[in-house]
Amino acid sequence: MSIQIDINKCIDCGQCLDICPGGLIVRKEHIDVENSENCWGCCSCLKVCPTQAIYMFLAPSIGGRGAFLTFKRQDSTIHWEVHFPNRQARTIQVDALKANSY
Ligand code: SF4
Ligand code: SF4
Repeated sequence: MSIQIDINKCIDCGQCLDICPGGLIVRKEHIDVENSENCWGCCSCLKVCPTQAIYMFLAPSIGGRGAFLTFKRQDSTIHWEVHFPNRQARTIQVDALKANSY
């Protein structure tokens, strides 16, 4: 797993730095990820980012080479969106209030 940060969307709030359990996200000239090979795909950074600036690249066996995942929350509905290399996307909606029942 690896993540990418879109610096054009990032507002430098620092929440992803604070939550990454591996300390992989750093603030230099801008927010960036270091040693991304150590990312174990917990998605915590995606979930806290208020501007959806963080993408997670998926293993080729899941979505094809270059496929990535985004996270968006609207009230109690979570939208996991898989973006495929052919530019198509598929959204998986989860009711956060019932998340433990899935
Ligand atoms: S997915 Fe988890 S381990 Fe990877 S950079 Fe984000 S918070 Fe850190
Ligand atoms: S949480 Fe999102 S907006 Fe905030 S610093 Fe990280 S990438 Fe930027």
